[in-house]
Amino acid sequence: MKEPIFLEPIFKDYIWGGTKLKTLFGKNTPYEITAESWEVSTNKNGKSIIRNGIHKGKDLEELYQDKKLRETIFGTKTKEKDIFPLLIKFIDANSNLSVQVHPDDKYAFEKENGEKGKTEMWYIMECKQGAQIICGMKESVKQEQLADILQKTNLEDYLNFVSVEKGDCIYIPSGTIHAILGDTIICEIQQNSDLTYRVYDWGRKDKDGKPRELHVQKATEVVRVENRPNVIKTASWGECEREIYSSAFFKVNKLTIRGIKKEVSNRETFYAMNVVNGTGSIQTKEKNYNLKVGDSFIIPATLGEYELNGNMELLKSYL
Ligand code: ZN
Repeated sequence: MKEPIFLEPIFKDYIWGGTKLKTLFGKNTPYEITAESWEVSTNKNGKSIIRNGIHKGKDLEELYQDKKLRETIFGTKTKEKDIFPLLIKFIDANSNLSVQVHPDDKYAFEKENGEKGKTEMWYIMECKQGAQIICGMKESVKQEQLADILQKTNLEDYLNFVSVEKGDCIYIPSGTIHAILGDTIICEIQQNSDLTYRVYDWGRKDKDGKPRELHVQKATEVVRVENRPNVIKTASWGECEREIYSSAFFKVNKLTIRGIKKEVSNRETFYAMNVVNGTGSIQTKEKNYNLKVGDSFIIPATLGEYELNGNMELLKSYL
């Protein structure tokens, strides 16, 4: 594979979404209100379709499950992984998302028919002045109080609210209670899973006028009250490539491009790239592709040399 792989996103019209994926990133969504754009996905709830090159029209899962293609495109580290390990989304939280938690691999495997758990990472692409997120519980909360607290109508008093700004990053391990709050646009890198246990939904009703289902019992089983992740601030990082976070599930670097940067692919792993700010281009031996904020693509493990050019910031997720 000598070319980057560009993908067609899948859109989700959840009730808390907005219009910014269209207005800021030019996304071609069919919905009036769009909450999520699944940029890199092989998940059964939405598979990315290849937009260019010899595999145009196939979905990403087809490429991943093709034994001959897997190593060439996704790298040697994916050999033993039956499921494509990542799911990457852009999220437009026009209003608050539910307060929620995700299970770990062990719980998901045992209680959810062999599914994967979900650890995720957020990169704040845009947000209003004074924006906040919920990330973990207050330090005073003890594990033995959890079942009681998750039932309380004043649950908010026990949650850890954190102020965020553009360029902030938060790694959220499974078992951490969390919520993205309104007026925030996020790039989310997560394990390939769609399992969410909702604890509190702000008293909201769905399109049919009904409250969305809560999963307080399961949440009680998976929340770890000591999980209270830190915010990693990247806004002031200069021209460089620097690691934001590295875990057993995925690694994420931030690339800040000012001019031309020569790069080379990695036989061990694909790179999933998301442009989170600015504009530029990617040049391979054969072709030049324009890039702008909101674009996503995959660098195959055997692509070879390429150049990133312009004035832009990218997230590079890999194994
Ligand atoms: Zn989540």
